[in-house]
Amino acid sequence: MNFEQRLKKAVNASGRMTILGVSTLSNQVVEAMSYGGKHYFEMADLYEQSGKMIAGYCRTEDAMITNSASAAITLAIAGLITKENRYAVEHLHKVASERKSEVILMKGHNVDYGAPIETMISLAGAEVKEVGYANGCRASLIEQAITERTVAVLFVQSHHCVQKNMPTISEVQQVCIQNQIPFLVDAAAEDGIDQFADRCDLVVFSGSKAIEGPSCGILAGREPFLSYAKQHRSFIGRAMKVGKETVFGLLAALEAYGTNTMSIEIQRDVLQELHSFDSLPGVSVQFIDDPSGRPITRLRLFINPTKAKLSALELVDALKTGPIPIYTRDYHANEGHIDLDPRPLLHGDTDIIRDRINTLLGE
Ligand SMILES: *Cc1c(COP(=O)(O)O)cnc(C)c1O
Repeated sequence: MNFEQRLKKAVNASGRMTILGVSTLSNQVVEAMSYGGKHYFEMADLYEQSGKMIAGYCRTEDAMITNSASAAITLAIAGLITKENRYAVEHLHKVASERKSEVILMKGHNVDYGAPIETMISLAGAEVKEVGYANGCRASLIEQAITERTVAVLFVQSHHCVQKNMPTISEVQQVCIQNQIPFLVDAAAEDGIDQFADRCDLVVFSGSKAIEGPSCGILAGREPFLSYAKQHRSFIGRAMKVGKETVFGLLAALEAYGTNTMSIEIQRDVLQELHSFDSLPGVSVQFIDDPSGRPITRLRLFINPTKAKLSALELVDALKTGPIPIYTRDYHANEGHIDLDPRPLLHGDTDIIRDRINTLLGE
């Protein structure tokens, strides 16, 4: 297969990164996708029945597969704008602005996760109404921003967001309940997909991040909000179509969800193979536990720019632009250290990383 030679692979020592294809698929998932791809189905029934199964994993009343978490945000909001008004569903692009179509979003949640979340809200014909500040917000500010034009409050549960001085998910939920406003949570990258049913009306997950399924998304939650969103499948949702192979792949990934986690011991064993960087000039290494408390350990390389051949920033750049691109966790490279995440490493990757870093930083 000539294209395999022509389309170059990358080494991922960074984490679940959309720019690298997020996650790799298990054999179980690939086999399920192959089954889905090789048979015919009544697609409407396939979407409906698989939605019920996905809801089972999320412990919500109903759910639907979408082609990304971004599409789940757009379809959720489109549904809330139109409700069961068929004319509005068919003419969303013309009528959205005449209907309730303001989405309240805290400024600290108005993030760019690789694309601006505001774009996904606008795709549904809605408008963002920001509340709070870049460094904080209060639940009372959300309450005071609600008007008769408010269609939903969107809460983003993510490391991308401002974390300090922000109201909790349950404080915002209380405001929504008291004011009878639908409460949508974007939990795209979160673990614990069965933990959101009682905390919001609608929740969004990525199918390929924590769930490690094919590229897709999930919208899960309460009736009637799910049926509102589903109506859009044959309208704006057509531009976000999901294939039958993806439906089967997601179900297989959900079935395996939580069983494939790499133990801390195995993570350390993998990283131990890279511990020898300690002997390179200007480099010291240390195991670092995940700052948000997840069961992840990473190897941190501290680079002393006066003693090492390259600074941390120069190393990051050289690794990415080498013959095989290598991506590290480089958020703190400007402070002189980078992390290697063991979870996404594939067989043979530690050898590639070791050889490359030894070449770049060795004497
Ligand atoms: C990754 C991410 C998304 C987008 O997911 P896609 O499936 O790539 O559309 C949305 N919100 C948050 C918080 C994310 O982390």
